[in-house]
Amino acid sequence: MENCLFCKIVSGEIPSRKIYEDDEFLVFHDIQPAAPVHAVMIPKKHIASMDEAGGEDFALIGRLHQVAQETSRKLGLAETGYRLINNCGPDGGQTVFHLHYHLLGGAKLGALTGISGSHAE
Ligand code: AMP
Ligand code: ZN
Repeated sequence: MENCLFCKIVSGEIPSRKIYEDDEFLVFHDIQPAAPVHAVMIPKKHIASMDEAGGEDFALIGRLHQVAQETSRKLGLAETGYRLINNCGPDGGQTVFHLHYHLLGGAKLGALTGISGSHAE
């Protein structure tokens, strides 16, 4: 998909620090890590967000969870634990509109953050 940052990482137009790659998925280090270990895991297929997924995409997303488990082991996170995050849409904090999961670990992570700014009543 033209002008998609992560599609450009898939094609190699934009470099990344790769952790894992196969025909369907790419895993690379996040450029602005939010934890000692912070990987971004993407399907090579352009799916804009979780909300845009349909049909066979859900099997692909299921396989991406297997890649997450394998990556957590490769990065030494499996025993101490990790967090898997998908941000969807503006309220979810998504900034790159190519479906991805964050894999975070390497330290005890804080509680999940919720509403920023004003509180919803
Ligand atoms: P999100 O906010 O959930 O859409 O996550 C997008 C993530 O992509 C952020 O954590 C960014 O730091 C990360 N990111 C943006 N550009 C790059 C890049 N060129 N290489 C690696 N990670 C990136
Ligand atoms: Zn894309």
